Amino acid sequence: MSSIEQLCQGQPEWEKHCEQLQSASTLSQMVQIGLQMGLFLARKLIEQELEQRAQQPMNWDNCSLCGTKLQSKGWQSRKMETLVGKIEWQRRVGRCRKGCPKSLSIPLDEAIGIKPHQSGSEELMRLGCLLSIIMPYELASWILGQWSGLSISASTLWNWVQIKGQEAQADLEAQLQAQASGEECEIEFLEASLATLSLAISADGVMVPFRPTPHSPKGKTLWQEIKVGILARLGSRISKAGERLPQLLHHRVVAVLGNIDEFIPRIRLEARKQSFESAPGVIWLSDGGRGFWRSNCNYENDYYSQAKAR
Ligand SMILES: [Zn+2]
Repeated sequence: MSSIEQLCQGQPEWEKHCEQLQSASTLSQMVQIGLQMGLFLARKLIEQELEQRAQQPMNWDNCSLCGTKLQSKGWQSRKMETLVGKIEWQRRVGRCRKGCPKSLSIPLDEAIGIKPHQSGSEELMRLGCLLSIIMPYELASWILGQWSGLSISASTLWNWVQIKGQEAQADLEAQLQAQASGEECEIEFLEASLATLSLAISADGVMVPFRPTPHSPKGKTLWQEIKVGILARLGSRISKAGERLPQLLHHRVVAVLGNIDEFIPRIRLEARKQSFESAPGVIWLSDGGRGFWRSNCNYENDYYSQAKAR
């Protein structure tokens, strides 16, 4: 691996930052410039690592259509927006000697887990989606820029939320299908300190405003009920006055725009993932809504009677 000098010296962007750092007057300015230098260095290190991996000798696969060995068609450049800024690298691209359609193969892209038309790397998409969930896209785009000068447009964020939303939806559907056919689901790992606490499960319906026509703000607000379930471990903490106060830990949320029959399998799936069967106690909290009681009473181990028994 190269030293900082080898990576950065003579690079106009780095030299400019060095001058800016020396002439900065306030600490805040120094931090801002220091951050840019750190990001610049991060980009250079990543690009260098990718370059080294791209140089490795390569065994080409066979064409999936005709079985002929693929051959290198030379080097192509790839760009990607990441959490540390835009990076660019070169990698080998291969194709079937017989020119079969869709035989394009880019082993390095596959090895590092990037898809053909992906414009942002996973960690950046994750942060962009998280921000977009809690604030409008324009604001999320601006906030991302505040961290390091990243420039991700609101429409790109919108696209990322669609992509990740569809992936999450497909993943959930697959898990629900597996549950319906009696398969075991993957239990979420719990620290021992959490696993020994009781699990509380609560469900209710909340009214949420929707647009009456997709992609348009026009028309009268449409209120629809979302069924929400919250699962949490019942912990406690000691206040400054020495009093023991209840504390909800390890929250998990289930929500669905749909009826109780769509809600029940979802809350059951999450209850299984949260190891309700091995929890020392399970407490079910719900108000009137009769349907919600069905979501627990059909269990072999009835939450409610368990909670009463303890
Ligand atoms: Zn072929």
